[in-house]
Amino acid sequence: MSKKRYQIQSACPQCGCSFAQVLSKEELMKRYGDTPNIELECGECMLKFQADRESACPEWDAECRMNEEKA
Ligand SMILES: [Zn+2]
Repeated sequence: MSKKRYQIQSACPQCGCSFAQVLSKEELMKRYGDTPNIELECGECMLKFQADRESACPEWDAECRMNEEKA
């Protein structure tokens, strides 16, 4: 069974460069926990900013909602 991967996509509010990272669910939970906002760091200007989880990774957000419904 292969591990599901989630792609996080966002754009830096300061320099506008967009980036994406692909993480497993475990990595996501370890890095960002279960908060609605995730903290990202721009690779270009090193600005730390918060992104809305729903827009950065809709797939992950949907799965969290499914888990909530199950619980
Ligand atoms: Zn930037």
